Amino acid sequence: MLFICSKCSKQLDIQSRVYEKAYKEHNTCLDCRAKHGGYREGAGRPAIGVTKKVSITLPDKVWKEIEGKKGDMAMSAYLREFILNGLEEKGERS
Ligand SMILES: [Zn+2]
Repeated sequence: MLFICSKCSKQLDIQSRVYEKAYKEHNTCLDCRAKHGGYREGAGRPAIGVTKKVSITLPDKVWKEIEGKKGDMAMSAYLREFILNGLEEKGERS
């Protein structure tokens, strides 16, 4: 399900059991809530990188294929792996 942070407007595609556990009573994402503590801790959570919002247009059947293949994974996580793998392959060839 989709959770939109009221503070940073980040959109999170989360599983309903994660939602029930960590998001139900909140309006903000974990990142925004973590900042309440005061100082930032670098070692807490592995940094994946920079978040950028993109819109991708694909044929409906491709979306359905992706939905089928990603299984339980969040769309963003699935696409991230897909992209990283694709870039890696490309890099080895050139
Ligand atoms: Zn946030």
